[in-house]
Amino acid sequence: MTARVLDGRAVARQIYEEVGKAVSERLARGGSRPKLATVIVGEDQASITYVELKQRNARAVGIESEDHRLPATTTTDELLELTERLNEDDSVSGILIQQPAPKQIDMRRVIFALDPVKDVDGFHPVNAGLVALGMPDGVEPNTPAGIVELLERCGVAIEGANAVVVGRSNLVGKPTALLLLRRNATVTLCHTRTRDLAEHTQRADILVAAAGRANLIGKEMVKPGAAVVDVSTNWEGGHQVGDLGPGVEEVAGWLTPNPGGVGPMTRAMLIKNTYEAEVRRRP
Ligand code: NAP
Repeated sequence: MTARVLDGRAVARQIYEEVGKAVSERLARGGSRPKLATVIVGEDQASITYVELKQRNARAVGIESEDHRLPATTTTDELLELTERLNEDDSVSGILIQQPAPKQIDMRRVIFALDPVKDVDGFHPVNAGLVALGMPDGVEPNTPAGIVELLERCGVAIEGANAVVVGRSNLVGKPTALLLLRRNATVTLCHTRTRDLAEHTQRADILVAAAGRANLIGKEMVKPGAAVVDVSTNWEGGHQVGDLGPGVEEVAGWLTPNPGGVGPMTRAMLIKNTYEAEVRRRP
């Protein structure tokens, strides 16, 4: 079997088109233009490139973007001050604070200080709690929301499926499990203390690999025909690779390319969340 592609780039394009259309229609009705405020602390080149890409994605669909750069010596209080200003700025729909921030910054305090309605990353505990409770008004975190959206739009049946998520981080694994559960999958969450990882992955109709360990999932660990989502971004010999070993594409029914699977979906969901944050504030 050669797996069908869970093409994150193509599905992300669809989402940008839909959001772009919704923004134009909103403006034509006299509605407000959504705005994404981005914040970078320090001069980390990868963070700068990543945020610039997100801003380009926003502008391309008619969402305004506003860039805030703070020096690497910024204190938590100074970042809290900016966060508070952006919370109160009525023109700002969504706030993205790029991570990792320099070590002296207490990101927990900063995330807690965000207005949950403007938390387009879905990191605030109010949003995490609403998502955990299965309530529709919580902002879903971008990567897990992107994974589920990708599966749904590619026609992978989630309801009733055995879904196995490898990795239980608050950023990826845990919320992905919750979103799959909300769509009525039977979910197993695996981690480093899982006794026999293969025993679980071999039963997975949907397998989400988010461990950040290259070659963790060998082809013998994959159920024939399974939908496999390779979230991880490991670097090997200057190339991005995920968690999958060679030959998984011969066994899986569906497979994300890596790169080109979850990454583009993550950025698209940020843009969708920003549009939805504005709609929530000003229907
Ligand atoms: P993380 O915080 O390091 O969490 C990794 C998780 O994997 C942990 O729960 C860990 O278990 C589990 N794990 C590690 N080794 C394992 C093993 N041998 N067997 C079973 N479980 C194992 O990482 P993260 O933030 O969730 O990110 C995961 C990967 O996704 C990273 O490569 C990251 O770069 C990538 N990522 C990609 C995107 C994207 O847009 N494509 C977005 C976010 C993250 P314990 O809890 O027991 O330690």
